[in-house]
Amino acid sequence: MDFFIEVSDEEIRRERAKARDLRKSNWWKNRIAQGTCHYCGARVRPADLSLDHIVPLARGGKSTRGNCVPSCKECNNRKRDLLPMEWEEYLARLHKPDEDRSAD
Ligand SMILES: [Zn+2]
Repeated sequence: MDFFIEVSDEEIRRERAKARDLRKSNWWKNRIAQGTCHYCGARVRPADLSLDHIVPLARGGKSTRGNCVPSCKECNNRKRDLLPMEWEEYLARLHKPDEDRSAD
């Protein structure tokens, strides 16, 4: 498995700038208004949700709507420390016990 993708500083800067714009958009305001962490499903105050890139910019992820999700502080911190594979295992554990969680 090869996780190495070369991303230039220039590209990362550009994508960070896009993320900043995205954060000001109505699309994003609607997302966080729901007050739910994309990863763990916790109910969180909108002010405590941060914009997280599912595929990190440093790994070639883009600041697109499909790649940006609201994340609670806990998931955000955890994700930063984990390798992508470990993060997937963490998510699998989170989602396994109650797959039939009703979406409201
Ligand atoms: Zn979370």
